[in-house]
Amino acid sequence: RMLKRQMMCRGDIHRLNAPLLAIYESLIPPEEERTKQKQLLALLEKLVCKEWPKAQLFLYGSCANSFGVSKSDIDVCLVFNEDINDKSEILLKLADILQSDNLQNVQALTRARVPIVKLMDPATGISCDICINNVLAVVNTKLLRDYAKIDARLRQLAFIVKHWAKSRGVNETYRGTLSSYAYVLMCIHFLQQRRPAILPCLQGMEKTYNVSVDNIECAYFDKVEQLSNFGSSNKETVAQLVWGFFNYWAYGHDYANSVISVRTGSIISKQEKEWTRRVGNDRHLICIEDPFEISHDLGRVVDKFSIRVVREEFERAADIMQYDPNPCVKLFEPY
Ligand code: ATP
Ligand code: MG
Repeated sequence: RMLKRQMMCRGDIHRLNAPLLAIYESLIPPEEERTKQKQLLALLEKLVCKEWPKAQLFLYGSCANSFGVSKSDIDVCLVFNEDINDKSEILLKLADILQSDNLQNVQALTRARVPIVKLMDPATGISCDICINNVLAVVNTKLLRDYAKIDARLRQLAFIVKHWAKSRGVNETYRGTLSSYAYVLMCIHFLQQRRPAILPCLQGMEKTYNVSVDNIECAYFDKVEQLSNFGSSNKETVAQLVWGFFNYWAYGHDYANSVISVRTGSIISKQEKEWTRRVGNDRHLICIEDPFEISHDLGRVVDKFSIRVVREEFERAADIMQYDPNPCVKLFEPY
């Protein structure tokens, strides 16, 4: 079944290109949202600076990696130059400061896996999470943004995949399905694997950007302006790529043995990473290597129940892309 499918894409696939691009366009945040985000960031900088003059604020996540759809919350990281042992104390202090400046719904979640302060800015209507010293997230945000600059098809594919995942309820890590970050890495990996390749492997090239974070060397080629023609010999359209992406995850991926790795631009074996058996809560049922924290499997949230849900959704999507007369509606139907 897998072979037959991999060879035979539906004949009228090109008919789906314009409607998929229209969905992508409709998800792009308008320029005024950007302006409002900057306005909120400037306000936060002003408040933080009064208390901690040497600290810096960085945007990360979808508001900065170019994979953010319209009306997303923003993720902010407060970075101190030193290690912080007690983040709770800082978060409570921060919550205090923000509260007295009329920001709304201010809450310090000091016991969360990633401790944060949440808030809503009444002036812009934007909600925001602020974490502390999560520099790796700032760096992987840059990596994703740099990949997006190389070929426009990455952003198109990833927007459609994220929109599908949200519509189908498989973008909820607390319920055992995958994060947006994981889906974007799956898209990057998929485009690295096309022949001819649509994306290069930036971590396998000359290292023009190099930072060390928590003893992890984060290095890759970041002069991506030089790569703007990289994928041009591959003429696949977004419709073919969406079809191919779902087909790969439904019928092509070897869940038993394979790990996808953006870091190496290839598939590596579970054996090699010693991800063959469950250790604690890490079950490794779908394996997505973090590009920098390479011991970290972004699929570790997936358990033996949710793996079935995720794989059935990939199969449903692949079948819709293959057979449905109206895939652009059916694909995103609420579950
Ligand atoms: P959304 O549009 O759904 O908010 P997002 O890009 O903000 O998408 P999230 O999955 O919420 O994606 O993650 C926000 C950021 O946090 C990511 O861009 C990444 O930098 C970091 N991140 C999230 N999950 C992980 C993880 N498991 N390991 C390392 N970094 C992560
Ligand atoms: Mg986010």
